[in-house]
Amino acid sequence: MNDIRITDLRARAVNVPLHYPIRTAVGTVDTAPLVLIDLITNASVTGCAYLFTYTPLALKPVQRMVEELAVLIRGMPVAPYEIDRLMQSKFRLIGHTGLLRMATAGIDMAAWDAKAKLHDVPLVTLLGGTARPIAAYDSHGMDDVELAQKRAHDAVEAGFKAIKTKIGYPTLDHDVKVVRAIREVVGDNVQIMVDYNQGLTVPEAMRRGRVIEQEGVAWIEEPTLQHDHTGHAAIRDALHAPVQMGENWFGPEDMTKAIAAGACDLCMPDIMKIGGVTGWLRASALAEQHGLPMSSHIFQEFSAHLLAVSPTCHWLERMDVAAPILEPVLSFKDGMAHFGDVPGAGIVWKEDEVKRFLV
Ligand SMILES: [Mg+2]
Repeated sequence: MNDIRITDLRARAVNVPLHYPIRTAVGTVDTAPLVLIDLITNASVTGCAYLFTYTPLALKPVQRMVEELAVLIRGMPVAPYEIDRLMQSKFRLIGHTGLLRMATAGIDMAAWDAKAKLHDVPLVTLLGGTARPIAAYDSHGMDDVELAQKRAHDAVEAGFKAIKTKIGYPTLDHDVKVVRAIREVVGDNVQIMVDYNQGLTVPEAMRRGRVIEQEGVAWIEEPTLQHDHTGHAAIRDALHAPVQMGENWFGPEDMTKAIAAGACDLCMPDIMKIGGVTGWLRASALAEQHGLPMSSHIFQEFSAHLLAVSPTCHWLERMDVAAPILEPVLSFKDGMAHFGDVPGAGIVWKEDEVKRFLV
């Protein structure tokens, strides 16, 4: 196994339709722009991962960045920590963040996927865990009353015990109206999380938070600008409901700063922005040491494997942004995510569909 080496790296850009557009308080994501990564080895194994670039404008630059990085890793062993060490030193001067961090995280994920496939085990097994079911919530958008109720109804029918809705409507009354409309559908035994997507000022977040928390919400996510850690800490002090954040932390270093500021009660790193599997493992140690329940952000396939080995595992976000181009390896039943029985992270391209959505 020691002479297995990385021979090439392929990156393809696709823009796939979403079942529901992701409406947020600060803009709508209409399609899912994804960069699909294949890390090719001299064994009969290819590591796979995808990146979500939020806007199609970032699709080509991220694809190109991944392709350019091939020159660094060709000939290396499939050793994610070695690749990480190289990337950290290579990009200290430019700053290992933004689109560059996304690209290196994608390579990290693909390398871990390849590693697990080389051992012919699921990623969770390679990491020392077991493929146990993980509690998942169904994640919705800023859908307004009618669609919010339909989606809440469908989620409960499908067995979910928790759902998240995005709020931050023009008025607080509107926020309350939507949360109450969902509560009417799901009853008292289903948890409702709310996500402001950074849409409020600090004083407005305090004003709205004090009212919305009385609806019994399970968490209030990113009430204000994600980089405003002291603002988040002030909001947290003013409220009883737990403050959730983490999807915009670039690397465990951002998480460290947020924790130092006392910005949140709960954490939810995004496996891409936090630095891939390697970054997540470091983040999960931080979460444990600081007693922060840890949830995931999109990337449900990789995240399920990682949550299963995270000491403070909380919730998996079920948001299926890559559904059109992936075989449904991960499945959901009774509000739990179930691993499929395939080696690696369970990223299996539907090649015909990939061809259809190539950019
Ligand atoms: Mg969010």
